[in-house]
Formats: sequence, structure tokens, C-alpha cells
Amino acid sequence: MSTEVIGRFAPTPSGRMHAGNVFAALMAWLAVRSEGGRMVLRIEDLDPRAHRPEAAHLLMDDLRWLGLDWDEGPYWQSERGEVYAEAIERLEAKGLLYPCFCTRAELHAASAPHASDGTYVYAGTCRGLSPAEVAERSTRRAPATRLRVPDASDPVGTIQFCDLICGEHAENLARECGDFLVRRSDGVIAYQLAVVVDDALMGINQVVRGNDLLGSVARQIYLQRLLGFAQPTYAHVPLLVAPDGRRLSKRDRDLDLGEIRAHDAGPERLLGRLATAVGLAEEGERICADQLVDRFSWDVVREHAERQVVFAAPSRRSTQPSCLLAVGKQPKNSR
Ligand SMILES: [Zn+2]
Repeated sequence: MSTEVIGRFAPTPSGRMHAGNVFAALMAWLAVRSEGGRMVLRIEDLDPRAHRPEAAHLLMDDLRWLGLDWDEGPYWQSERGEVYAEAIERLEAKGLLYPCFCTRAELHAASAPHASDGTYVYAGTCRGLSPAEVAERSTRRAPATRLRVPDASDPVGTIQFCDLICGEHAENLARECGDFLVRRSDGVIAYQLAVVVDDALMGINQVVRGNDLLGSVARQIYLQRLLGFAQPTYAHVPLLVAPDGRRLSKRDRDLDLGEIRAHDAGPERLLGRLATAVGLAEEGERICADQLVDRFSWDVVREHAERQVVFAAPSRRSTQPSCLLAVGKQPKNSR
């Protein structure tokens, strides 16, 4: 019995797409289309600062220009407050949530550095507050809401998974993360919770995204288990990095789609370079997304992702490649 592959684009409308976003989107799209699956588009605009419909529409226009289509959506996280609230109620009913009154400075001072990524492990400061203490502190400060993770010695709190590109991973939640946020003190739903609820309700069974999000997987799997959701397959694709090893950013204007579209009539040159970097196209080949569908294979991508591959940026100012495609020691994301 085969199950239809259902993947997703899940962009945050914080600015114009750049080549790194395009690469992750291309891989997600090819992984779905090569299996005859279905693609869902979800706009991750939960944070009021990311609630920028005009940026989201520009992003959708960029996806269409690239030839990366979708079958369902867009869904807007900013409109889905009810489903997140329901999930929080279910966790609350299990007695797993508690209010956290820590300020940013207190968190910083009381926490141990994260084992692998330099973000901070929550020390459990507010875990044992009495109802009277909670009532008293609530008069001074609106609390965030945290989810208890099992003790370090409890096997339930060690999450193991196999990523299609990065291989086997294991994380002990208590040691590497601590009790984590499901709702911020300003009431905004935390990224991890929203993603888990959305992926489950949208039937997503394959998550392909940049490997800056590899560090989120253990928390997401833990939430899936608590909420009784199926676990999708994960593939974290390499990030594009500059020659000095830093992540691409909006400062790399040559790699911004606004800039690329101003110079290139179509997406074939950019897609050709991205595909070449992971062994799906020949050097100098110009190609459209549809033509890559039959060539796509996780084995080829994985083999190329394991070594540093030069991604020749479509720069007009220089003949030198201005960025590399690399996998491996990427910083985990602390969202
Ligand atoms: Zn706290």
C-alpha cells in the first residue's frame, strides 16, 4: 500500500526570497512532484511582525515565477488561532503546562548553554511555583507558557529520528533544550506548537526544509507524540553559505529574487545552478523546475550534500562564485 506524499512550503513573509530559500523550496517541491504527491502552501505569519500580507503575496509570486506550484492553500497561521488554542488546552489537561515569568535577562543568567547549538537550556526556574506565587507574579507580568519535558533519565525524553539527508539523530530534551515555550508572554503561539498542529491537520507526511531547523525536530516529535499525531518523514537540506561560512542573508543582494528577476527573464539559470550544486544538472545547464522532476533522487542529493559543493551564484558583478553549498556543522535554530 502506498500513501500519497504530502509536502509543504511554509515560508515566513519576512522579506523577499533569496537563493537559499529557493533551494529549500525546490527540494521540497521536487520531493513531492517526483512521487506524484500533493503540495500545501502555508504562510507562517504568527508573529505580528511577520504578518505582512503584501510580502506574502510577493513570495507567492516568486514561487509561481520559479515554476514551483502548490495544490492547496495558502493557509495563514495568523487565522488559525483556534486550532492552536485547542492543542494548548489538550496539553493543559494533561497537566504538562505551567506559566513562566522569567524575563529575557533572567533566562540568560539562569540557563546552561545548549549542548550543541549555543542556545540556552531552560533551567526549570518556574516549574515549582505555588498557586499563590503564580497569582502574585501575574499581577506584575503576563507569563509565557512552557511545556514540561521528561527528566533526563526518562527514556521518553530522548527523541531519536532518521533524517533523509542528515541521517540518525538523537536528542535528550531535558539536557539539550529543557521545558520549552508553547505560548509567548505576549500571547503569540510558539513556532514549534503551531508547526506541529498545522502539519498534522494538513496531513503533511514529508517535511523538507533548511537544516537550520534540524534542532527543532526533537521538540516537534515530542509534541506529536503528546497530541497523538503521526510523525512525518524529515529531510533537512543544506543551507547556502558564503565563502567565509556565514549564512546567506538579505545583505547578499545578488541572491535576492528581486535582484535576480530584474536581470533574468526566467528562472532557468538560477534553477540550473542550484540543481548543479546537488548533482541534478550539468554545469552551465539552464533548466526549468518541471524538467528536474524525473531527475530527482534523494540518493543523488544526499551524496552531494555530504561534501562542500561550490554553488556559483548568478552574480553579475563578479565571475567568482560568491557562495557555497555546504552541509554539516550548521547552527541549530533556536526558534
Ligand atoms: Zn521561568
